[in-house]
Amino acid sequence: MTQIEHNLDKLREELGGTNVKLVAVSKYHPVEMLREAYDAGQRIFGESHVQELEEKHNVLPTDIEWHFIGHLQTNKVKYLAPYVSLIHAVDTLKLLKEINKQAEKAERVIDCLLQVHVAQEETKFGFLPDELREMLNEGEWKQLTHVRIRGLMCMATNTDDEQQIHREFCEVRQLFEELKAQYFSSNEAFCELSMGMSDDYRIAIEEGSTMIRVGSLIFGERNY
Ligand SMILES: *Cc1c(COP(=O)(O)O)cnc(C)c1O
Repeated sequence: MTQIEHNLDKLREELGGTNVKLVAVSKYHPVEMLREAYDAGQRIFGESHVQELEEKHNVLPTDIEWHFIGHLQTNKVKYLAPYVSLIHAVDTLKLLKEINKQAEKAERVIDCLLQVHVAQEETKFGFLPDELREMLNEGEWKQLTHVRIRGLMCMATNTDDEQQIHREFCEVRQLFEELKAQYFSSNEAFCELSMGMSDDYRIAIEEGSTMIRVGSLIFGERNY
């Protein structure tokens, strides 16, 4: 058994009995390692750079679900639009509109998550909770028929303070419930909360995550 297979097995065992989906974050890792994970049964992979995703998508099996988890620039949406399964980090209405436009060209409907900024760090992208309320309330998004908003995504602060991480994930979970009730109550598709990475996925699951994005725990340290 390879190390990757072993790591995946351990995670799956932990997730067994839950409905939490595992996104294997393979950014910066070579195609051979993704293939090992694929051979061990993994089908959802997350990448955060468009060109790298393109290269991997071109050589790996076609039944992989590719998730884009990084900050996406509007001018790069067109490259992903023909095949991406889920875009996790939509952080502006402008980006959502561009995804809609490129999805229409590709004759698809693209699943998206709206990224919420809750972390204490300046560098993290995402809507502040009030910005998100305002954007949804304003309503233009309802005309975007080639995107499907599936839920929310966030990153917690990178800290050892577990209480803070709990608070941040809890805040996003509550925001999710609020928005679900207000804008998506008759929309079954709005059901995903992408929260949790290698260091905080257990806390995220306790707070209601439905999708964890795990990289180093599966593939080891990244060489940037
Ligand atoms: C890199 C990355 C991850 C995975 O991080 P690990 O700590 O290696 O699990 C998850 N989410 C996002 C948005 C990332 O950029």
